[in-house]
Amino acid sequence: MNIILLGPPGAGKGTQAAKLVEERGMVQLSTGDMLRAAKTSGTEMGKRVAEVMDRGELVTDEIVIGLIREKLEAGGASGFIFDGFPRTLKQADALGELLAEVGQTLDHVIELRVEDEALVHRIVNRAEEARAAGQPVRADDNEESLRTRLAAYYKMTSPLVGYYYAKGLYSRVDGMAAMDEVKAQIAATLDA
Ligand code: AMP
Repeated sequence: MNIILLGPPGAGKGTQAAKLVEERGMVQLSTGDMLRAAKTSGTEMGKRVAEVMDRGELVTDEIVIGLIREKLEAGGASGFIFDGFPRTLKQADALGELLAEVGQTLDHVIELRVEDEALVHRIVNRAEEARAAGQPVRADDNEESLRTRLAAYYKMTSPLVGYYYAKGLYSRVDGMAAMDEVKAQIAATLDA
């Protein structure tokens, strides 16, 4: 089973993906994690995307589609969780084509709905907690970049709701609920 977790920054996609990995043996594909790894290791691509990411803007479709293509072509896994991908209609079309090429389908697209002010609060807290614990703070976890990330979500990514609704794949969960409740709502969708 292959699924997309859709939702704005701070919605809890990474947290819920980690639970699905642990409990169902699914494989999480987070383009954000892949891009941060490229940035940290200082590859050419990492250097090119660093400033764009730090500002909270989207990197090009070609780059992220390329990253996902590599993972899908490597094969070996049944059950991907796409986390933070696709973020544009072009990426969504590309994902459909890539899955078809490797003989797989997309089974569910689950959106985590969270109010904007709660997102700002969560992200600012995440940065403060990391700072207090002496851990690295994400360069885009500040209020200004977050506002840009939110705007990008509503403008570029939220059209995917209609796109996947029309394909009969879309469900939504209340991302404002407690973590375990969100988990239960996701499980109910996957096991229906
Ligand atoms: P995330 O960890 O998903 O919040 O992603 C962090 C940043 O990486 C985003 O703000 C974008 O700059 C970039 N990014 C991650 N995934 C994508 C994607 N699918 N399309 C474009 N940019 C992305």
